[in-house]
Amino acid sequence: MLSVTAATIGWRNWGGTQRCTPARVESPTDAVQIAELVGRARAEGRRIKAVGAGHSFSAIAVADDIQLDLTRMRGLIATDVETDRATLRGGTHLHEIPRLLAPFGLAMTNLGDVDRQTISGATSTGTHGTGAAFGGISTQIVGATIITGTGEVRVVDEHDPDLAAVALGLGSLGVLADLTLALVPAFHMRAQETPMSADDAIAGFAERTEKYDHHEFYWFPHTNRALAKMNTRLGVEEPCHGPGHVRRWVDDELLSNKLFGALCAVGARVPATVPPIAQIAGRALSARTFTDTSTGVFISARDVRFREMEYAVPLDTIPEVLDELRTMIDRRRYRISFPVEVRAAAEDDLMLSTAAGRTSGYVAVHRYHRDDPADSASYFADVEAIMSDYDGRPHWGKMHNRDAGYLRTVYPRFDEFRAVRDRYDPDRVFANPYLEQILGP
Ligand SMILES: Cc1cc2nc3c(=O)[nH]c(=O)nc-3n(C[C@H](O)[C@H](O)[C@H](O)COP(=O)(O)OP(=O)(O)OC[C@H]3O[C@@H](n4cnc5c(N)ncnc54)[C@H](O)[C@@H]3O)c2cc1C
Repeated sequence: MLSVTAATIGWRNWGGTQRCTPARVESPTDAVQIAELVGRARAEGRRIKAVGAGHSFSAIAVADDIQLDLTRMRGLIATDVETDRATLRGGTHLHEIPRLLAPFGLAMTNLGDVDRQTISGATSTGTHGTGAAFGGISTQIVGATIITGTGEVRVVDEHDPDLAAVALGLGSLGVLADLTLALVPAFHMRAQETPMSADDAIAGFAERTEKYDHHEFYWFPHTNRALAKMNTRLGVEEPCHGPGHVRRWVDDELLSNKLFGALCAVGARVPATVPPIAQIAGRALSARTFTDTSTGVFISARDVRFREMEYAVPLDTIPEVLDELRTMIDRRRYRISFPVEVRAAAEDDLMLSTAAGRTSGYVAVHRYHRDDPADSASYFADVEAIMSDYDGRPHWGKMHNRDAGYLRTVYPRFDEFRAVRDRYDPDRVFANPYLEQILGP
């Protein structure tokens, strides 16, 4: 086991919204070592926390005392091709999984936009993609090995009612040493990207969500322009085709990252340029269709740093929510260089899933990382005020200001989760200020 006294080694998250200097960083290699570390931390009255890829914007992963780095716990433990399941070590990154599953002809059924996160970090915050018939990553978890706050190594399977908490546990119940996922046979997807008016994108969202396996759209503030994405699942026998590498590079790297990043930087320095730039960018959107592996379609590169807030609301309220959002941005004269992303997910029954008990629509708002911090905070607060009127549930890994008092009103199983936490971590060795804010002491 590697142990580093980290007084001088700082940690910061991807979005630059959180930083800390852990007293010590430990890099265990197995569940037994984790149990020893947790047991010792508990006995000494210290706090300990696993960190993933640092892709959460909220303070959920902040570990001021002992930080557990699971970089040495990555890879595949077992696969079961009879049941299409695989067990992965807790520190495995999402981008490593396709290669691990390829020999078995298996794939994850749904993913978010990027794959830099770890499987444990993604499931612990309710990371999701889009698709009215598809839940978030936590709904793919059918088993876990977790080291609880008492240092017990506990195996939780799908017959154990605790899985509804452990599969989306906010890092508050224990350290995930491994996770078992329900997978699907590898598949390809046809991706259609179509520019349209924002009015049409919003009005037709529910219908397209029904019609296509995975639908989302991006609305460009200060314009009536949107880019709709419709993905259809196909068998692996369907050949991959579409824009060649050069066009994909121009679209995905040059326009979506490099040029976009340069325009955001201009907008941050001179906010008045944001609306005219958005108008030009909105007119430049173009349609494209391609077929690729599931990962090739789900995953994009995100090189331009930003801060993000995302709320889940009942799917049928999306038009009203966006109407209010558009009005608010105009009325408050915000200058928003990032598109607003709108997605959907199936209802599930996990205790703290943003889609618990209701088919959900997701509205994600972003600010460029160099935008004026006070203006960004004010924007996020105004968005949050709208979301409250729709029983909005904040993404656990993204910016929000909610506390346990509010969250209890929007999560019917909130106190059930707290009862599991009392059993798994009675001495709160995994606590940090963020968890105290959202779950209480
Ligand atoms: C560019 C970008 C794109 C994103 N796209 C999406 C998206 O499309 N959809 C979406 O829903 N979200 C998205 N997110 C949010 C992101 O998926 C989540 O915040 C996710 O939790 C990050 O995973 P991570 O590995 O970085 O975990 P971290 O942020 O490092 O940690 C998150 C939580 O997991 C806990 N944790 C980590 N490892 C363990 C472990 N082994 N055992 C127990 N707890 C553990 C941590 O303690 C912490 O509580 C995006 C974020 C960024 C920066």
